[in-house]
Amino acid sequence: MKNLLCPQCKIRRFYIVNAAGERLVVTVTDDKTIRPIHQDASLEGFDTSRLYCLGCSWSGSVNMLTDKH
Ligand SMILES: [Zn+2]
Repeated sequence: MKNLLCPQCKIRRFYIVNAAGERLVVTVTDDKTIRPIHQDASLEGFDTSRLYCLGCSWSGSVNMLTDKH
């Protein structure tokens, strides 16, 4: 399964945040599934509607990601 990429800097790692401001690093597969990079981590409590790029200032929803390099 391919990973979706940041529309600005084309990296594949993002983070999401929870109400406590904690960050969870994730990737997004091309079926728009958000996956923690640590397999034992849980998405519970995290806001999956907004992704923040680890490589640039971009943030947005999974629907704004690209599969084009
Ligand atoms: Zn980026």
